[in-house]
Order: sequence, then C-alpha cells, then structure tokens
Amino acid sequence: MVMEQVIIIGGACAGWTAAIYAARANLKPIIISGNEEGGQLMLTTMVENFPGFPEGIMGPELMERMKQQAKRFGARIYPEDATSFSSVKGGYAVKSPSGTFQAKSIIIATGARARTLGIPSEKKFWAKGVHTCATCDGFFYSNKKVMVIGGGDSACEEASFLSNVAKQVVIVHRRDTMNASKVMQDRVKRNKKITFLWNSTITEFKGKDLLHSVVLEDLVTRKKTEQSMDGVFLAIGHIPNTSIFTGKVELNEHGFLVVDRRMHTNLPGVFGAGDVQDFIYRQAITAAGTGCQAALEVERYLQG
Ligand code: NDP
Repeated sequence: MVMEQVIIIGGACAGWTAAIYAARANLKPIIISGNEEGGQLMLTTMVENFPGFPEGIMGPELMERMKQQAKRFGARIYPEDATSFSSVKGGYAVKSPSGTFQAKSIIIATGARARTLGIPSEKKFWAKGVHTCATCDGFFYSNKKVMVIGGGDSACEEASFLSNVAKQVVIVHRRDTMNASKVMQDRVKRNKKITFLWNSTITEFKGKDLLHSVVLEDLVTRKKTEQSMDGVFLAIGHIPNTSIFTGKVELNEHGFLVVDRRMHTNLPGVFGAGDVQDFIYRQAITAAGTGCQAALEVERYLQG
C-alpha cells in the first residue's frame, strides 16, 4: 500500500484550507471530505464576516469555492465519511468506503455540530429565525427582540454579543441557575438589556416564512405561553465529530480534540484544525486559519 504524505479528514473550512496549502506544497493530499461536505456553513445563508467578500457570500457557495481551489492544485477528494483511524508502521491508516489509505501525517478537520432542541418546527425556521451563532447572524437582529437558549459559557457569550445589536435579549434556561463560569454569569447579570427566564424551554417555533413567535413551557408548572420573538439563538453545546478518534487521540472532557498552539495533537504527525478542536471561536475564518497552520506544520513535520 502506498504511504502518502498527508490525509486530511473533513471537507469544510479547515479541511479545504489545509488542502489548498498542502497541495500547493506538492504534498498531493488526499481529502476524505465526508458524506456531507461543507460542514456547518452548508446550513447558513449569507456569510457577511468572511474577509474578501464585501457583499457577503452564501455559506454553500463559499464552501464550493474553497473546494474548487483545493482541486485546482491537485487535491484528491473522496466525498465520503472516514470510518476508522489507526496507527501503522511509519504513519497512520484511515478507512473509508473506497478503501484504506495510509499516510505519514494526518490533519483532523472533522468539525462539530451544534446541539439542537430536536423539536419538529426547528428545521422549518433554521436560519430564518433559529440560529446557532450570534457572531455570524446577530447582525440581522439589529434593534429586535431575541432569545438565547442555554445556561453555559456559550449562552453568556452569545447573549453579551447580541446585547450590542438587539433591543432586548432573554436568556432561557431549563434550570434555575446557570452552569457558566462566574465571571461570565456576572457579566450577563450586570447587562441591563439581558433578562432571564428560568426553568423554561421552547416547545414550538411559529411563523409563516420567518419566525414570529415561540411557545414556551414552564418546566415547574408545565404551563405553556406564546411570546412574539424575532430570533432565537441556540447555545446548548456543540458535539465534535470525533467518534473515530476516541481512545486513540487525546480528547477533552467534551470530546474536542486537544491540540497545542501549533495544532499538534498528542500523536506525532497528527494535527487538528477547525471546530473539532475549537470550542471558543468557532468561526469560518478561524477554522480556515487553523487549517493553514496545520498544513504548514505537516510540511515541517515531513521535513523532519
Ligand atoms: P455547555 O455544555 O457548557 O452548556 C450547555 C448548556 O445548554 C447547559 O446549560 C445545558 O443545560 C443546556 N442544554 C443542553 N442541552 C439542552 C437542551 N436540549 N435543551 C435546553 N438546554 C440544554 O456548552 P457551552 O457551549 O456553553 O460550553 C462548552 C465548553 O466550551 C465549556 O467548557 C465552556 O466553558 C467552553 N466555552 C468557553 C468559552 C470561553 O472561554 N470564552 C466560550 C464558550 C464556551 P443543563 O445544565 O441542564 O444540561
């Protein structure tokens, strides 16, 4: 079996960027890009904060352009899921439905997915009132009324960000206390634009094409009420796509890949990039940036 230079697992912002850099460095990368290429940007509409697109660009188009750029420099793309990862003599093996590939180095860029409430109406209003990234979509709610669901650090951060844009922000949490760090909690509690709705959850999103109202359930009294609402931001955690690496590469307590400042995992020659290792910034541009870093580190690693 051929021992390739590098296999990149994941075909979204981080993976495509790593592929562009690796291909231009003549490493002839193999990209196992996933059954659902493009990751979270395929679920967004207009991306207005990716530099170089002053009019904005649709998320799926941005992904397609990155893919074409990687292809132009000779990246070999397999649009399917990697099904296993293991160490072999001189490198690593990755299996996918097309077969087994081996390489001296690996870039893991499998991303993460936002946890959702899982209620039927959520899909209908996805990106039309229901969002998972305030930095990305908060701008559309200038002077409007929004809700943030969750009680962790993400919920606090999303609410703080939205309070700079929206007229009113309500944090809805299913408990009567938050689990966010104290400093984050103090910040939102001091913010006059942010109010709280404890022991509550959303059971239905309503509207015609765009979200117009939400049905809330008080989890203590079980009473349901309807409230008009312009936007809802889910901040109930992210699930990193790391199942095939569990027990093989170091992961943190939430399942995210642990990397150092130069994107190295605990295994020599294995690097991480994008949301699979980032639970703080989670932006297209930071994913692209870490994809570039990982590819440059692969070059250094291969040069010994
Ligand atoms: P967390 O897992 O910490 O919090 C998720 C929150 O969502 C919890 O309050 C949880 O409630 C709630 N929740 C989960 N599922 C549901 C559901 N189905 N319905 C309603 N509520 C739900 O996720 P975060 O994204 O906030 O944080 C993940 C990690 O990232 C943490 O370690 C955090 O510290 C870190 N982080 C750090 C930041 C920073 O340093 N700037 C910024 C953001 C995150 P319950 O308690 O009831 O389960």
